[in-house]
Amino acid sequence: MRRAAAEQQGPADSQRGSAAARKGDLDSALAGDLGAIEAAGLRRHLRRIESAQEPVVTMDGRDYLLLCSNNYLGLANHPEVVEAAREATARYGASSVSSRLIAGNMTAHADLEERIAAWKGTEAALVFSTGYQANIGVITSLVGEGDVVVSDELNHASIIDGCRLSRARAVIYRHNDVDHLASVLADNNTARRTLIVTESVFSMDGDLAPLVDIAAAAERAGAWLMVDEAHGAGVFGPRGAGVVAELGLTEAVHVRMGTLGKALASFGAYVAGSTTLIDALINRARPFIFTTGLPPSAAAAAEAAIEIIEREPERSAGLLARARTLGGRLRAAGLDVPNVESQILPVVIGEAEQALAVATRLLERGIYVAAIRPPTVPAGTSRLRLSLMATHSEDHIERVATALMESVAGEQ
Ligand code: PMP
Repeated sequence: MRRAAAEQQGPADSQRGSAAARKGDLDSALAGDLGAIEAAGLRRHLRRIESAQEPVVTMDGRDYLLLCSNNYLGLANHPEVVEAAREATARYGASSVSSRLIAGNMTAHADLEERIAAWKGTEAALVFSTGYQANIGVITSLVGEGDVVVSDELNHASIIDGCRLSRARAVIYRHNDVDHLASVLADNNTARRTLIVTESVFSMDGDLAPLVDIAAAAERAGAWLMVDEAHGAGVFGPRGAGVVAELGLTEAVHVRMGTLGKALASFGAYVAGSTTLIDALINRARPFIFTTGLPPSAAAAAEAAIEIIEREPERSAGLLARARTLGGRLRAAGLDVPNVESQILPVVIGEAEQALAVATRLLERGIYVAAIRPPTVPAGTSRLRLSLMATHSEDHIERVATALMESVAGEQ
């Protein structure tokens, strides 16, 4: 007993010096790690936005045209969304202060889940506190040792981490290559369970997965199919319900995941599917079970955003039209911009340092675009990832096109 009490009091005086020395060790070890990251041109820094996420934001007291926010439909600062968050805070408080399975399951969550299920046309939906957690929670709940998870090589880090944590055999297929997917499925046809995971709109490339063919391959192989609609929900499909809905694949896709922190202008994520799927997740998904529920304000804001998305389809139509215009202009000027159908336009530059240099030139001209470097994208494909908003004006698009063409030319 006495020993336990002593341990709880912390190190004895004689040990304090060595604790400080160990802290010094930690700092110098990490400084060495950071030096290596810096030398590879991969050091990351936080940048502070001092205003709301509008097309023009303030940083260091100066205005910048913002081209790297996921506020695709411009709803994060929409009065109805802000008011819904305010009202939910006034009614339910600032936090759910518990995990959902203890005391943190509030009316705001249930309302949002019902709304999402109706929007997606599924039996049920479950809200997670982040998309990162949702992907890990779903994959680890559906497959485990003795199973196979088949994943597109460009899937998001949260899917990769879910595959790793699941202990299922993870098999990667070449990006959007359905023939390769089919052969991977044939090579692994003795697994107990097989889960295929893909994004619908790829976050760093902006291209769409060939979901009709992927669903057919899944059907032939008797595999389950999960689609991450983080960048598709709100933008594609009838009433913004996503690419799966647009392609009429509601039955063929067993798990539809999406995030609330992009077009839906809030924070968090959801999984939509059968009642049994949702029940299984409530019982098995550790990132759902062991974390605090979404704040009521975030749930209410997302619900208000869905309402606007359903009511105002012109937002997503305008967004995609603007993306087509900008993509076309940049390609015509000789830039390496793939002909994608989404609101995400990658401008592939090559090495990390070059991509950073172009981003810096753009910043000097008052345009904020993020340089995306490894490990987020493969080495040699560092890029600027332009993400458009429905609220960008034609003038904004024109300014970006001109500045980009000049800044890339200046680097060559
Ligand atoms: N999936 C994809 C495809 C994403 O791009 C992201 C976030 N950028 C996530 C999942 C994670 O979502 P969240 O930010 O809510 O954790």
